[in-house]
Amino acid sequence: MKTRVITISDPEQQEKEIMEAAQLLRSGQVVAFPTETVYGLGANALDAEAVGRIFKAKGRPSDNPLIVHISDISTWHKLVEAIPKKALLLADKFWPGPLTIILKKSKLVPEAVTAGLDTVGVRMPAHPAALKLIELSGVPVAAPSANISGRPSPTSAQHVIEDMNGRIPMILDGGKTEVGVESTVLDMTGSAPMVLRPGGVTVEMLQAAIGQVRIHPNVMRPVQKDEKVRSPGMKYVHYAPKAPVTLVRGELNRQVEFINKEAARLEKEGKRAGILATDQTLSRYQAGIRLSMGDRENPADIAGKLFARLREFDELGVDAILAEGVEEKEEGLAVMNRIARAAGFHIIDL
Ligand code: AMP
Ligand code: MG
Repeated sequence: MKTRVITISDPEQQEKEIMEAAQLLRSGQVVAFPTETVYGLGANALDAEAVGRIFKAKGRPSDNPLIVHISDISTWHKLVEAIPKKALLLADKFWPGPLTIILKKSKLVPEAVTAGLDTVGVRMPAHPAALKLIELSGVPVAAPSANISGRPSPTSAQHVIEDMNGRIPMILDGGKTEVGVESTVLDMTGSAPMVLRPGGVTVEMLQAAIGQVRIHPNVMRPVQKDEKVRSPGMKYVHYAPKAPVTLVRGELNRQVEFINKEAARLEKEGKRAGILATDQTLSRYQAGIRLSMGDRENPADIAGKLFARLREFDELGVDAILAEGVEEKEEGLAVMNRIARAAGFHIIDL
């Protein structure tokens, strides 16, 4: 299949181009498009066969549900059963934006989307090209991240081309994505709202809006054997570059010392270490290939750069990646969740 890449610089002026993508969605095809979080791989959420093409293009396990993207609130009311007051409040405050809300699904939503669950995650993305695409398609759009399953999520059209060229008919190129990590997933079906995946709408922001919000224990530790999985995505290796990743946590000077020692040890063995540092520490490393994931005082900056850096290490061909830890608060929690998962939860606590 030939993949067309169409640059979208001004969605308002480019209705014709976006209409072509919308027609593909309407005819049951899969299209990659930019959102403010990462690039999505979309299909008509009401068409089980079209949704099946997403799983095929990504090589995604069929028991991992998809998030449904909408461009107006009235569609949400059709996709779910009752919407609790707190969910309405959050939608009002954070949509369009990087927040996915899980509620009981209506009959309209095919099981192919929810992987057989009786709940569905819905969000309204903030990227103008995404909103225009959904609006012109006239249907809700199921979309996971537009990477091959297990790879770091794409934050530029180039990343999507790397993974999806030849597999899908069209990629809309809207430049680099702003947030850089996937949406916050909030389960509102239980007695208290629970964050299943941290993202751009932080736990602190949610708590300020609706009071108590829990964080699922699997955000920072792996699913244990025999443990009931709240979100199927938690089971899978994710965001992983080719080289094994080690995440180092603890007092910063000790992190730097540990990573320097470990990189030197790897070099002695004839291996290339990749060091994922921060702006503040980059110059303190001597061995290996060193990249900064951003300003550690500004975790949103790191979220924006993280996945691109993991892909760069793939291209540079390192044998092992040593990643610094940042504070697990605000956007830092999403950053640490993604690195921990890229590391398969191989974490060194100092
Ligand atoms: P992705 O589409 O790659 O951004 O991943 C979507 C994430 O949301 C996965 O971790 C899913 O397991 C999770 N998710 C989507 N829908 C549901 C749902 N109904 N219940 C629990 N988790 C969900
Ligand atoms: Mg994904």
